[in-house]
This record gives sequence, structure tokens and C-alpha cells, in this order.
Amino acid sequence: MAPSTPIALTAERYPIAQLQCETDTGIATIPLSQEVAFGSWQPDIPAEYMDLGSEELTARIHAARETLGDRVVILGHHYQREDIIAFADERGDSFQLAQYAANRGESEYIVFCGVHFMAEAADILRADHQQVILPNIAAGCSMADMASEPDVHRAWAELKEFYGSTDDIIPVTYMNSAASLKAFCGANGGLVCTSSNATKVLDWAFERGKRVFFFPDQHLGRNTGHAMGIPLEQMVLWNWRGPSGNLGGATPEALERARLILWQGHCSVHQRFTVQQIEQARAANPDVKIVVHPECRYDVVQAADANGSTGYIVKYIEDAPAGSVIGVGTEINLVSRLAKEHPDKTIFCLDPVVCPCSTMYRVHPAYLAWVMEALVDGRVVNRIEVPEHHRRDAKVALERMLALK
Ligand code: SF4
Repeated sequence: MAPSTPIALTAERYPIAQLQCETDTGIATIPLSQEVAFGSWQPDIPAEYMDLGSEELTARIHAARETLGDRVVILGHHYQREDIIAFADERGDSFQLAQYAANRGESEYIVFCGVHFMAEAADILRADHQQVILPNIAAGCSMADMASEPDVHRAWAELKEFYGSTDDIIPVTYMNSAASLKAFCGANGGLVCTSSNATKVLDWAFERGKRVFFFPDQHLGRNTGHAMGIPLEQMVLWNWRGPSGNLGGATPEALERARLILWQGHCSVHQRFTVQQIEQARAANPDVKIVVHPECRYDVVQAADANGSTGYIVKYIEDAPAGSVIGVGTEINLVSRLAKEHPDKTIFCLDPVVCPCSTMYRVHPAYLAWVMEALVDGRVVNRIEVPEHHRRDAKVALERMLALK
């Protein structure tokens, strides 16, 4: 078998932060050659896959899957398109999927249909004999790219200079971050959080330090801190785009009273939801319930009836009585799937524009067919491999989170 080649994703190579929406025609699969955004996707997929339609791709993936049997496990994040989710042995959020993969010892290959940081997390938790594959290497995450290792190190050094020490500051990174930042947290007494355990993680951190340095998502940090009773005046925003030495744009007074130092990052999908959309939904139907993801802005979360992780949203809708009308503030693929799975309820996306997560959308079935057929041929393409020094410290940060009850 040919040796696998670890591949590094860089935002420079596959620009994503500026993209808000890669389709205005719907979320059904069209041939790769017709995707207008293909120019920013992984280009070196063999030409034979470019014009294949959904049916043919589905048949080819099925055939490869049959041949490979238990040697491969396919994971599908909730935000993946239907033609991908149909092949998922397990669907869930990033952390559930990484854990699931680690328990699938019989599978040599973990094909992670999600984005880059998720495949990295699976690689950190995998067993020695397993290899993790990301079908489209250009499937990154614009939020994760807002916190780079040099920018976080620079901020940490400035905080050290300002406070005289970082001994009292616990770094916490959201799962949606590069492995190098999980490693930074592991090496500096911190840990990782997900949107379902952020409160527990912050409790743990505040038992050990006076302040928390939280990145990359300001909204999850602010919404969680507020739910824990931390006043907004004790949170400060760190603008990583500013010049070195200007304390992230914060005043010395704000930093002195800060308990939560929030990185100025956000999710481009969840930032689309607004209070106005919620008001319009309520005006149209006073009985509507609104549930949103905590990556939404503070005012949106405050205006909603409920908020929580993707797992929470799935359960919220499952548990709602028949006849319920629920407006949802999260990615369109998940919302439209939930609407199909619950025909006795009215489920709709608060954002009227059909706009999937632009990078999740890059996992087109043509890429899945390519990596699966390569495995059948004895080749591993698009392997994700976290460097050993990052893997070791990132595992510490993940294990601290896992140890929380
Ligand atoms: S939905 Fe937002 S946080 Fe999730 S992968 Fe897409 S850009 Fe990143």
C-alpha cells in the first residue's frame, strides 16, 4: 500500500473566512463541475469525478463501502448534506463523532465527513492502527481560522505583561479550533470545551484561576458566562486583528475587572440570525417556539425561548409535542433534516435565505467517492495527521474535558 501523506490545511491556500454562502440554488447535490464555488475547493480530485450526478456517485460510494466493510467507518456531522449523511455510520456533533471513532477499533480508516478541526480531533483520539481521512481537504472552518497559533501566543504574551503573570488565567478553547490551540491549552493548564459542556468547563476553570481566556468564539463564551451569572462588564473582547501591544483594543480598566477575556471570533453561519427574524416569526405565529445555537449573538440567545448545542436542538425538537411550531437558529442542512424527520411538527429555519455552512458544504459526494475508491485501490488520500508534539498536549486538554462529570 502506498504511504499516506499528511496534509496541512491553511486559510491562505483555501480561503474561507470571506465566504458566507456557497449556494443560492438549494442544498441538493449537483455535479462538482457545476458548483460555482469549486474554485476555492480542493482542485486535485481526478477529472473522472467532476461530472458525476448524485445517483451515480451514490452507487459508487455504496460499492466501495461494500468492498471495504468494517475496515472503514464513515462519520457525518449534523451539518452535512443529505447525500453524505445517508452513508454515515454515525451522525452527531464533532466531539460525539471523535469519541465514537475512537471506540471503533475494528475500523482502520475513519472517513470524517465534517471540517478540518473535527478530523484533527479524531486523529488526536484515534488508536495507533487507525488513520483519519477528510474527503475534501479544503473543508475548513472560518471560525477556527480566526484564531491562529501566532495570534494566540501574541495575546498570551501581552496578557502576561499586563497582569504580570498568566498563572491566574486559564485558557479554554472551543472544540472548533486547530489542534495546535488545543495543545496550547493543554500545555498551559487549560482545556477544551464543546457547546454542550461549556458551563462545566468554565466552572472547572474558575476553580483554578481568576480569569478565563476563551477562544475562538466570543458568542459561546459570552452566552455561557452570562448564563453562569458573570456580568457583561466583567467580560472583555480581545480584537486579534489589532496591532501588537494594544491589548486587543481593551482598556486597562476593562482588563482589570475582566473575568472572561473573549477572542473576537464568530461563526459566519450563526451570525446570520437576528432578533428581527425572531420577532417576525412571533408576529406570524404567537405560539411559535424559538431554539437557537449558543454560537448566535447574545441578543439573539436572549430573545430565544431556548438555546443549546446541536444535540440539544435535536432533542428539543424530538421532545416537542405534535403540532408544535419551532423556529430554529442553526445550519440549514440540520434544520431541513429535522423538518423531514418530524412531519407532525412545523420546523423552519429562522434565516429565510438558504445558506448552508460554506465549508461543510464542500464535502461533496464526489470527494467521498474519490477517497473511498482510493481505499479500495489500497491508497490513502487526504489523511489528516496531527504532529506528535501537538497531539500529546492537545490530548491533555481533551482528557481534562473528558474527566468532567
Ligand atoms: S457552522 Fe460555523 S463553526 Fe461550524 S464549521 Fe461552519 S463556520 Fe465553522
